[in-house]
Amino acid sequence: MIKVCKFGGTSMADGITMLRVRKIVESDASRRYVVVSAPGKRFSGDVKVTDLLYETYDNIARRGETGASFEKICERFRGIVSELGLPMDIDGLLEETGKEMLAERSAAFCASRGEYLSGRIMAELLSVPFIDARDVVKFGADGRLNGPKTYSLLAAALKGKRRAVVAGFYGSDEAGKVVTFSRGGSDISGAIVARAAGAGLYENWTDVSGFLACDPRIVDDPVQINTISYKELRELSYMGANVLHSESIFPVREADIPIRIRNTFRPEDEGTEIVPTSRYTYSGKRVTGIAGKKDFTVIFLEKSLMNAEIGFTYKVLEVFLKHNVSFEHIPTGIDTMSFVIDGSELGGALDDICEEIREAVHPDSLRVIREIALIAVVGHGMARSVGTSARLFEAIARAGVNVRMIDQGSSEINIIVGVDNDCYERTIKAVYEEFFA
Ligand code: ASP
Repeated sequence: MIKVCKFGGTSMADGITMLRVRKIVESDASRRYVVVSAPGKRFSGDVKVTDLLYETYDNIARRGETGASFEKICERFRGIVSELGLPMDIDGLLEETGKEMLAERSAAFCASRGEYLSGRIMAELLSVPFIDARDVVKFGADGRLNGPKTYSLLAAALKGKRRAVVAGFYGSDEAGKVVTFSRGGSDISGAIVARAAGAGLYENWTDVSGFLACDPRIVDDPVQINTISYKELRELSYMGANVLHSESIFPVREADIPIRIRNTFRPEDEGTEIVPTSRYTYSGKRVTGIAGKKDFTVIFLEKSLMNAEIGFTYKVLEVFLKHNVSFEHIPTGIDTMSFVIDGSELGGALDDICEEIREAVHPDSLRVIREIALIAVVGHGMARSVGTSARLFEAIARAGVNVRMIDQGSSEINIIVGVDNDCYERTIKAVYEEFFA
């Protein structure tokens, strides 16, 4: 079996952590392909190399020079190479990188250099070939990954290589210009390499021992999730559980490759396994995890006989389309419909949107409810057991919280509850107590 291992920013933060990475990779012959992030934070308050690179791009765009942030980046990479005692010409590589950044003048190119340089160093440390993602990860004209092309280029590049290091986070467009994924995107790169290599497992090495059943900043010491399905994970990570980039599931899901979250700093821990939904076995738990986000806005519409009015939703959605605003959920009743929107999507467009909706569908009433928090309670077990929602809402009521909105996903693995922002923490605690304590 082939394992693809992706190491995140904290695993690549300095020479000592990179030696941990080498030990982990070399302790298992099936760990063949390694995908790396740029060096992340070494301590709280430290700055990630990627952030310094974006700053460097700003310096280039404004003043035509790489500036102090690039100096800091150079210091970090020089430090790493000297800590590791590697015989590589890091000064030459950094000088060349600085020149290329000035010549390319693109934010994506600058940002990608963190992964490029840490990949070069890791390849040297492991004495294996380095694969530049620019040559093998391809984006189409629409800015999205060109899967078929990428998988065939990557498979060809990996072929015959016992081991290799691939830089995460970036690729290139049809003209060869560097393109990056969104922040945290090395997780996606890891999944793409796993898929191209025909891996049996995608190991995602980070600084926590897997997913917790809820946010540890809200509940002390929540239980860890041992196994979770892709579907459950998608729901939870979309709602803010951010161990893994929410888009990294897609490449491996299509190929039925499980993911395991592992902790570089506690390699003896089992971590969390994320399995294809078809291979998921019921653990006996009703709820797998709880996640949530604050600051949603709800536009609530009421109109008698709305259910019989053909095209009602269509007309409202046209207004959202016109303003390029995406919504998260549309809970509906017979004569009511609510549109739940992430507050940050709206910008200053809310008043115009409401006015245009009024003109388009003439509702009996239109209300805007702001500062709503959504809490997702997720688990395949919910579909199998009677009374989950009764327990959920009883627990919320006991905590004295008023439920402003309910949405049960049609997949039956997800109940979403809307509460006022200031009841968010209290609600999560109450739900956790009910299902996990
Ligand atoms: N270095 C990039 C970031 O900080 C990508 C990653 O680490 O996954 O977002």
